[in-house]
Amino acid sequence: MGAHCVNLCRDTRDRFSDRCSRFAPCFSDPARRSTFCLRVMLVVLHLVNAGFVLVFDRGLIEKARKEPWYIALYLLLFISTLVQYFITSYSSPGYVLDAMRAVDEAAALYNSTSGASKQPASSKNVSVVITIDRKQLEQSLLDGNATPWTKLVMDLYPPGSSVRNWTCSYCHCLQPPRAKHCHDCDKCVLEYDHHCVWLGTCIGKGNHCRFWWYIFEETCLCIWTGILYIQFLKSSISKAWWVYGLVILLLASLSIFFVFLLLLLLFHSYLVLTNQSTYELVRRRRIPYLRGIPERVFPFSRGVCRNLYNFCCDRSSSMYKMQPLPTAMEIEEKSKPYTCADVMSCRCCC
Ligand SMILES: [Zn+2]
Ligand SMILES: [Zn+2]
Repeated sequence: MGAHCVNLCRDTRDRFSDRCSRFAPCFSDPARRSTFCLRVMLVVLHLVNAGFVLVFDRGLIEKARKEPWYIALYLLLFISTLVQYFITSYSSPGYVLDAMRAVDEAAALYNSTSGASKQPASSKNVSVVITIDRKQLEQSLLDGNATPWTKLVMDLYPPGSSVRNWTCSYCHCLQPPRAKHCHDCDKCVLEYDHHCVWLGTCIGKGNHCRFWWYIFEETCLCIWTGILYIQFLKSSISKAWWVYGLVILLLASLSIFFVFLLLLLLFHSYLVLTNQSTYELVRRRRIPYLRGIPERVFPFSRGVCRNLYNFCCDRSSSMYKMQPLPTAMEIEEKSKPYTCADVMSCRCCC
């Protein structure tokens, strides 16, 4: 009987998989299917949590009639959170292969136009959006047999480093500092942070800012929904026992989400201010270029203000702008203990 049930379940699952792959070929991949299910679950969870008070809270409905801006603002936050989720989910984390392709295209374009005009070509003249830092690119085009990408990346490592040491053993591309191969995406990611199962994508240089804003909006939505629940429980309007119980259950689950989101938001804010990634923080002792650097020294940090500016506003320069490994002298400079004069001159900020 048990074996029969197992076989029946397996057959049903296989039939479902076959139908999925026939009607929607993208669902033949189990990873994509689970990401799709998670996305549907997230939307449903949001609709249930927000919709419950909007349907059952007569006090809120009355308030919405008197002060429509209040509910309009809440709905705006609700929609923008979901939109932010999908934008982050479908955004590129900055794959090394894309950067490599962009460098090669930019180099080819530079070579073809520099002969005619002796000036670097403007990215506006071509359909390909070239986002490589021009100074880095020009430096990489100095004489030699190596490809522009190899020259560009090897310049970011200390002199004498071997290309072999920094070549990914899975996708065979040359990794710039801070890049890592993601086994879920099967690609190397620039400034790899982590692979987010909830979003179904990697978080890296290209979408870390969007990810931060998503957690921020989600936390705000969680707080506001929690306030609506508490107001509903406090209101004198009579409610059925099951409505009362359901609100307490939803409020409890919302509180757990809130604690998790708040910790995540604080953690990522700390990473932004110190210019680190989750991977670098967690695996610090196992990453070759971070080994031997004192714990309290953040090798890629340029000061709190600059880190914050680069993270939020520095969209003009380059998505693929890569940071070189700091020299021993820079590390030594950063390792110096703080003096009163450093505190007065805000050494940590600039
Ligand atoms: Zn790789
Ligand atoms: Zn990934």
